[in-house]
Amino acid sequence: MWPAFAFILGLVVGSFLNVVIHRLPKGESIVFPPSRCPACGHRLAPKDLVPVLSYLALRGRCRYCAHPISPRYPLVEALTGLLFALAAFFFPPSPQAFLTFAFLALLVALSFIDLDTYELPDSLTYGLLFLGLLSAYLHSGAPTPQMNHSFPRSFSQALDGSLLAAGVLGLVAGYGALLLRRFREGRAEVPVGPHQVHMAALFGALLGPGVGMALAFLTWALSGRTGRPVVLPDRITLPLLPLAWALAPYLGADLLSTLKGSLLSAGGLALAGGLYWALRPQEEGGEEEEPVAMGYGDVKLLGALGAWLGLYSLLALFLGVLAGAFFGLAFRQRKVPFGPYLALGGVVAFFFGEALWRAYLAWLGL
Ligand SMILES: [Zn+2]
Repeated sequence: MWPAFAFILGLVVGSFLNVVIHRLPKGESIVFPPSRCPACGHRLAPKDLVPVLSYLALRGRCRYCAHPISPRYPLVEALTGLLFALAAFFFPPSPQAFLTFAFLALLVALSFIDLDTYELPDSLTYGLLFLGLLSAYLHSGAPTPQMNHSFPRSFSQALDGSLLAAGVLGLVAGYGALLLRRFREGRAEVPVGPHQVHMAALFGALLGPGVGMALAFLTWALSGRTGRPVVLPDRITLPLLPLAWALAPYLGADLLSTLKGSLLSAGGLALAGGLYWALRPQEEGGEEEEPVAMGYGDVKLLGALGAWLGLYSLLALFLGVLAGAFFGLAFRQRKVPFGPYLALGGVVAFFFGEALWRAYLAWLGL
């Protein structure tokens, strides 16, 4: 009964997600007005809005103007239904199950919005991040309903996972941009941008995550205060960073904690900086230039996954890259958004991460 209930709930939620996917990027209200046919504008009756079944009964055409309806609507509904049913096999009816439904629904919405617009809305990525941290905070220590599945994780695992994951992808983005620019210095965002993320990584490697983050936040404050970037150039911070990692064992620090210091620190700056740009009041009139590099959509998404997956977020990244490479080659697409692949990696890591990890260790003979 429970998986069937979850499946039907998923169909209904999927129908709502279609509205979110359609309207959120345009800044339209999600609740109002009621749904209309995009072709003829006729208001849709409840009998037109039954998930999947309406589409099948109408043979994929609008009841009023016979315009074809995109098969994506029933697809999103069926996908959400199947994902919810999958979650129901892992969790009995419990807060964990409903939190997992929310996790899956947010990832479906983010994936399809990214496919349409190449953007991951901050309201959804930060919503996913804070819901993950909150559920870890409220439910850590609660008995896990099923063996071999530790969700929610402890709060410190969730926070570390989130910062580490965002730090890894933030630095990958930094090195990628530096190579693409052929080592020319990019424009520094005021008051905060990738420059602070890279500085935080370097300071964090040398001085630990706490001091590293504090120093980078200090340059953020100084940039805001003076109105011009108070930053070290990327040409210095990014090449020095691997050097700091390599030298750590000779300076009496161990490599792992040095790496962790940089990544935690970089991730903290990336997520805090992204939140600043997401919440900053829009100036009236005039097309404001968007901060290019602080766009960071995938970094924020992976950071959000970290709040749900802990260190398994790195597995999600690995699976996402693998899937992206595979589908990218298979379909020869030039411009592919990475968000859906990260989301796919996140779902697989969420349900099967620990099983995959154990299988991998067994394969290594450990
Ligand atoms: Zn119509």
